[in-house]
Formats: sequence, structure tokens, C-alpha cells
Amino acid sequence: MIITIHTGATSEERAQLMTLICRITGSQRPITTTHIAGQEVIALDTNQVDGLALTALQQQQAVERLLPLKTSYQLVSRVFKAESSAIVIGETHGGSRVVIGGEADPVIMSGPCAIESREQLLSTAHAVKGAGARVLRGGAFKPRTSPYQFQGLGVEGLHLLAEAREETGLPVVTEVMEPAMVETIAEYADILQIGARNMQNFPLLLAAGRHSQKLPVLLKRGLSATIDEWLLAAEYIVAAGNPNVILCERGIRSYDPQTRNVLDLSCIPLLHELTHLPVIVDPSHATGRRELVPVMSRAAIAAEAEGLIIETHLDPNTALCDGRQSITPEQLAKIVEETRMLAHMMRGSTILAPVA
Ligand code: PEP
Ligand code: MN
Repeated sequence: MIITIHTGATSEERAQLMTLICRITGSQRPITTTHIAGQEVIALDTNQVDGLALTALQQQQAVERLLPLKTSYQLVSRVFKAESSAIVIGETHGGSRVVIGGEADPVIMSGPCAIESREQLLSTAHAVKGAGARVLRGGAFKPRTSPYQFQGLGVEGLHLLAEAREETGLPVVTEVMEPAMVETIAEYADILQIGARNMQNFPLLLAAGRHSQKLPVLLKRGLSATIDEWLLAAEYIVAAGNPNVILCERGIRSYDPQTRNVLDLSCIPLLHELTHLPVIVDPSHATGRRELVPVMSRAAIAAEAEGLIIETHLDPNTALCDGRQSITPEQLAKIVEETRMLAHMMRGSTILAPVA
């Protein structure tokens, strides 16, 4: 059940509505509103709203509209918001403005898996910019399977990302692994990445939803998450107050070790049916093999992904993390060009001018 709140509601009318909602939900959670497409909304599980509760809600002065959705996710649902959401990146920390989703051209994000040094990050940032990437990626806090593997440079990595943005103008995306670090990372990052291993870290989802800047959140699909679990994870962030969520398909676990994961391309058109949120694809983690990255990048754009996030390293064989799946800036430039042409062709457009 989505409740749209009247713009002209007085503070008493709002307070009365919040009290009623607390009563309906048994005060099981803090009541937070979210602004989506200029409307202030709040969502409840439709099953919680019986006939009496519905009548009480309908009588509230603060209520403009009630929309009883049958899906378990509400605010991220396409039934609630028919138009695709366009997420604006880069306006907070002085980087270039980039739009993902809506009618925007596909956006390519790229950079190293892990930030290894100042020299590595800055030269990679210039190289991926030269190749046509529009957002710089780089892990400062790395979720590694083994505690003995390189764990990232931590806060020093965040400083380096800010320096790379300053030099290149590219907005930056980096992973946040714990709720307590959300505000700190938001001081440096333009997009907060929530990794596959944390897709159902509910305190982290809530913190990303509530943080003061409401930066876009790149929510990666969990290692073996269903589409519904993924959308409900996105719903956590949106219901907590941050509507700026980008979904990222990065492959799901299967039985065949030939590829690191299995890239579920069919999830893209399916998600476009179910949700208004943009969907991007990570062909690097999905395949684990650099030779598969170009064709899977094209396949993702052909399946109407709104962007890609690709690991690039100046010397993939010496990378401290995920070198096997990292491509070079030259290979990235080719992918950018091919996917740009593909996207224009799919729109039936004859204009092939590079995206500024
Ligand atoms: C990453 O992007 O570096 C990463 C760890 O990805 P994932 O969470 O998809 O494994
Ligand atoms: Mn990686």
C-alpha cells in the first residue's frame, strides 16, 4: 500500500497520519517518507491494511492517494511509478554530471578492482576517461574471501578517489561494507556501492537509505539472490528515504567453475518490467575472464542495460585483485565505442557522435 502525502498537509495532519501508521504497523519500524518523482510517499505491506485500517487511512487529511499494490516490493515497483527513473550522479562533490536510466545513453563505469597506489589510480583514471568511461570505479574497502588477501587501502583510498575526481572530473563509485562507514564514504564518493556479499545486510541498506546526502546507491545482486530478494533489498533503501538506487547484475553462482558466475542477462528485461530503477551489468565479476568481457558487454547493452561497470587495469597480470577478469584501457575504449554504436542503432538513431 503506497500512501501519497498531500503537499499542503499541516504538521498536525502529518503527525496524525504517522500515529495511525504506527498503530497499523504495530510500530514495528520507524516511519520514514521518501520523495519519488516530486511526491512524498510512504509504503506499508498491503496485507497489514485491513478494512478498518483502510477506512481510517482514507479519512486522513494528510493522505492524497492510496495505492494498494499486490507486490511485496512497493516503492520500487513499476506499477507505482510507470516512468523509468533517471538517477543523477556527480552533483554533490564537484564531478561531472552523469545520468543513469530514463532516456539517457548507457553509462560506462570503469577502473581497477582495488585502489593499489596513488600512481596506479591516477593513471588509470586518466586512461579510462580517455577510453570514454564516465564514472571511475575503485575499491578502497575490499570484501575479500580470504583474510590473507589484499584488503584495500581504506580511508587513504578514499582520498585518492577524491584526487582522481579533482583531476579528471569523473564521479567516483566505491564500496561501503558497514553501516558505520556510510557517512564517511559519502563525503568522498558520488555513488555508494553495496557489494554482492552485502545485498542482504539490512542495517547497511538502512544506513544507505538514511544517510544525509542521499547519494545514489549501486546495489549489486547477491551471490545467489532471487529477483524478489534483490528488489526487496532495493526497497529497504528506498523506504528508508533514498530513492536513488541503481541495480547491478554481476552474475549468480552456479555449479560450473569455467566462469566465475553465470551472467543472468534475462534479468534485465524482466527487471524493466518489474521496476522503474535502472539496471547496469558488471561483466567482469559475472564472467571472471577478461576475454569474455567485450562480448558480454555488448550483450548487456543489447538486452537494454542502462550501463556497465567494468574492471580495468593498466597491467592486469600484476593486479592485486581480480587481474584475471580485468581488461586494459585499450580494450575498454573498444567496448565503449561498440556499445555506443549499438545503443544508437537500437534507438534507430543515425547520429553517431561520441557522447560528451
Ligand atoms: C567489486 O565490484 O569489486 C566487487 C567486490 O563486486 P561483487 O560485490 O559483485 O563481488
Ligand atoms: Mn573485483
